[in-house]
Amino acid sequence: MKWNDIRRSEYTGANRCWACTSVNLGLVGLFALWLYHRDRRVGALAAAAIGVAAVAVRGYVVPYTPQFAPRLVETVPLPGDPFGKGPGRDIPESASLTGTDVDGTAVLQELAAAGAVEADGDLIRPTAAVDSDWREQMDRLAAEPLEALAREAAETVPTADELETYVDETGEWLVVDSGLVARPVVVAELSAYLALAGTVEDRRVRLAGARAFRMFLDSCPDCATALVESSAVSCCGGYTDPHTRPEDVLVCPNCEQRLFTIPN
Ligand SMILES: [Zn+2]
Repeated sequence: MKWNDIRRSEYTGANRCWACTSVNLGLVGLFALWLYHRDRRVGALAAAAIGVAAVAVRGYVVPYTPQFAPRLVETVPLPGDPFGKGPGRDIPESASLTGTDVDGTAVLQELAAAGAVEADGDLIRPTAAVDSDWREQMDRLAAEPLEALAREAAETVPTADELETYVDETGEWLVVDSGLVARPVVVAELSAYLALAGTVEDRRVRLAGARAFRMFLDSCPDCATALVESSAVSCCGGYTDPHTRPEDVLVCPNCEQRLFTIPN
């Protein structure tokens, strides 16, 4: 057997998952302790040495570790983020205020035709006037209490009638048919809908555009923290469904909200 057959680079080095590693080292230790107490001291030492070495070069020794270790570790209350899960991995997608699912490419084409977005090399970005209007609106709305946001959204967005508010330990939300809309998403979409009023006449395009504009965010519309690009993969690259790739997401690490899901 060659070294490369033993070593698994997908679970070690930069790819090492500390949830898996610590759970495995814990189990190796328990096994060694068990042998030790059964008066097999040499065996215990050998098991510990082999186990630690195996975890070092293979990432984990216990079969199916990537499936259970992250969940196990998540149930253990630890301060901070010791296993480097990174922000955004477990944050679900917020619902949208605009209640539309027009195809993204079609929306961008319509927005470009209306002069709301333009190509800048390989990038697409809002045109200067729309962009500054959008950011002004976001600054204004970020300062509003949730009830005022709900009122203005209900008055402005044609797909929303009356909007209930909801507050829990994870943040502030507006209740729509499809679920809960996180406060930063409300601020971004409502602002974009208002900013697009001057250029985009078609209401459906304006609604879809308001949602699509979240892709242009580089800081949180609510708290101004720089957004982090993160992967929605759970751990070890071990996402459970082999047919779908993990999503890349834009996350506010302060609000712990997902602002945009980058299409694969
Ligand atoms: Zn934020």
